[in-house]
Amino acid sequence: MFIRLDLSCSSCRQPRLLDGAYQCTLTAGSLDEACGQLLCYSCSRAHSSATSHPCFRVVGLDSRVMAGVIDCPHRCGANLTPANYMKHARSCKLRELMCPMSMCRQKPFFWNTLASHLIDHHGFFSENTTYEGYKEDIPLIRCGTGVVLEGQEEYFVFFIAETGLYFIWLGDAKAKPDLPSFMLKVYLHQAGPDGGPREELGHYLSPHPARVMDVIHLCVISRVTNVNITQQSFYLRVLIEDRA
Ligand SMILES: [Zn+2]
Ligand SMILES: [Zn+2]
Ligand SMILES: [Zn+2]
Ligand SMILES: [Zn+2]
Repeated sequence: MFIRLDLSCSSCRQPRLLDGAYQCTLTAGSLDEACGQLLCYSCSRAHSSATSHPCFRVVGLDSRVMAGVIDCPHRCGANLTPANYMKHARSCKLRELMCPMSMCRQKPFFWNTLASHLIDHHGFFSENTTYEGYKEDIPLIRCGTGVVLEGQEEYFVFFIAETGLYFIWLGDAKAKPDLPSFMLKVYLHQAGPDGGPREELGHYLSPHPARVMDVIHLCVISRVTNVNITQQSFYLRVLIEDRA
């Protein structure tokens, strides 16, 4: 018999009670609604500093949380356990995402509409990936734009921001339940005077990224840190394989 749990904090409404629920010690005679409710750690800290009411952690809830069933916070209908809750919440196909480009920050997008936004609105170069061997000389045109490699029901996004090469996986993790991660190897080259690739600037070889929608910093572009990076052109050499 499972208990269905609502793990959203009464104040910020985010599903943060999984990391511990807190409650104000003032349970009677309060003028503030938050005093009687379950709060996340950061909302309980905010409540304490605004009211000087001490908050305590409701440890008795921990064992119930671990035995419970949790609804997906994005309302996709999935029944989750505490063990797979965090991973699902970050890879759910209904998770709302913000555009990662610093001058844009538009939202909300879903994994597939964010990929098309990057291509249509930010001029990201788009190609397919076959999950076999290296894809050579993918132009990563300039700082502020990038590359979207389209796979099966998922996208592999690469872009340069400031002096780093970044990666985002976009997809529905349920499409490949047996493959929670994938092999990724990336080499970044600077374009030579003829426009073709010249020297290697950095690479990423491990660990295998999980099919979770987070930004990964692949490498620092050390040798061009002193040059105006917006004037540079880059090429990628990328290996993506579906091996666990
Ligand atoms: Zn909260
Ligand atoms: Zn209080
Ligand atoms: Zn979901
Ligand atoms: Zn954008």
